[in-house]
Amino acid sequence: MSFLYSFAFSYNTNMKHIAIIGGGASGLMAALFAARSGANVTLYEHNTSVGKKILASGNGRCNIINTTATHADYAGSDPQFVTYALKQMNFHYFQSFCSSIGLLLDVKDDGRCYPLSNEAKSVLISLKGAIVDAGVKILTECAVTSLSKDSNGFIVASAHDKRRYDNVLIATGSEAAPQLGAAGDGYAFARSFGHEIIPTYPSLVQLHLSSKHAPKMAGVKTVAEVTLVIDGKSNTKVTGDILFASYGISGLAILDISQKASYALLHKQRVSLTLNLLPQFDRQTLTNTLEKLFTSIPTQTIQNALCGLLPAKIVTYLLEDAAIALSARVSTLNPKEIKKLAYLIGEWKFDVTDTHGFKHAEVSGGGVSTIQVNPKTMESKLVEGLYFAGEVLDIVGKRGGYNFNFAWASGMIAGKEIAK
Ligand SMILES: Cc1cc2nc3c(=O)[nH]c(=O)nc-3n(C[C@H](O)[C@H](O)[C@H](O)COP(=O)(O)OP(=O)(O)OC[C@H]3O[C@@H](n4cnc5c(N)ncnc54)[C@H](O)[C@@H]3O)c2cc1C
Repeated sequence: MSFLYSFAFSYNTNMKHIAIIGGGASGLMAALFAARSGANVTLYEHNTSVGKKILASGNGRCNIINTTATHADYAGSDPQFVTYALKQMNFHYFQSFCSSIGLLLDVKDDGRCYPLSNEAKSVLISLKGAIVDAGVKILTECAVTSLSKDSNGFIVASAHDKRRYDNVLIATGSEAAPQLGAAGDGYAFARSFGHEIIPTYPSLVQLHLSSKHAPKMAGVKTVAEVTLVIDGKSNTKVTGDILFASYGISGLAILDISQKASYALLHKQRVSLTLNLLPQFDRQTLTNTLEKLFTSIPTQTIQNALCGLLPAKIVTYLLEDAAIALSARVSTLNPKEIKKLAYLIGEWKFDVTDTHGFKHAEVSGGGVSTIQVNPKTMESKLVEGLYFAGEVLDIVGKRGGYNFNFAWASGMIAGKEIAK
């Protein structure tokens, strides 16, 4: 069935008819603000229900916002693009907005915020309740297949029909986590209107290593200082959890450096990681500590001796790289070998070959170029009445609530403006 609803029978000339494509964080926020500003809002979502990423977020807890967000927490061709939106929806504004829809927040000391219930579900229930109250029409299992514009406005084609609207918001998110509905359709819609798409790449994602040891250490978790090295130069240092895996390496410290690693891989740069497995010690202190330890247990094997400091599987492969037999008695090690061990513990190098891909990424970098979008309205600078919000734009945040932060803020602005 393919026909065009003209709305002629019910068209209130003062009321804008708005289509929002995508029922994620930014689309839901925009729908609410547009409807509250007096627009007639239809929201298209191709999943069976809206907000699937909200439910999956923060390990089911939803790290909903960060009280400290600034443009420095984002990457993209122009991270300053977020500044106006973040000012409009600063933390205090957001907190009172949440209270107004019945959602109370738990604010952590480091700026992360979660729903007080500690359940992501609360966020979606509160938001959806407000949206339904505001009169938004939600069409689920309704994928938008094409978007065009003629002299009478926009035509939104879905699998079910074609409808005409005054203004349209593309809030389709990115390609990250396709199992939750991500499709990248928004890029195609934007491109059809002449918008430039900055090449996309997975972010907040695990990394593949070329190491033969990594798969054998799968499941081993420890705390390390991770240095990201790009084209031979030290780029970023992060201390936190790492977890070896069959494909390479994961853990919060890895997610934290993954945006820069993934961006460098996209641009064909050489990427490697250096792990400091005992960041508590500087090199000399570690050498002294090893010497002292080995003197105190001279009859032990080097494998046993190091297991008092590091996870056992790591010890096995570290010794292999140091070319020291696991069964060697510590008393037989010479100062050069001890120095070499201290060096490897502090600078164990791994080459990064790839990321674990969009399927495993939380977010995506790249997207609709922000140069062609007005940061104060989220309207296209190329096509009047066409708006963008959220992750479809060339903006990607750090881990810690920053991605939702921009999705809510840009969604709110787009929602208010699109209804004008
Ligand atoms: C596992 C996971 C955990 C995360 N945890 C956090 C966290 O704790 N804190 C944080 O800040 N961020 C987190 N994120 C990132 C955050 O979820 C996203 O940045 C945010 O959801 C982006 O919002 P959005 O509205 O731009 O896109 P989305 O939430 O992806 O919404 C886009 C919507 O558009 C729909 N859609 C796409 N194409 C079409 C089409 N053609 N027709 C109709 N509908 C369409 C999709 O189904 C989707 O529902 C997490 C992401 C993942 C995957």
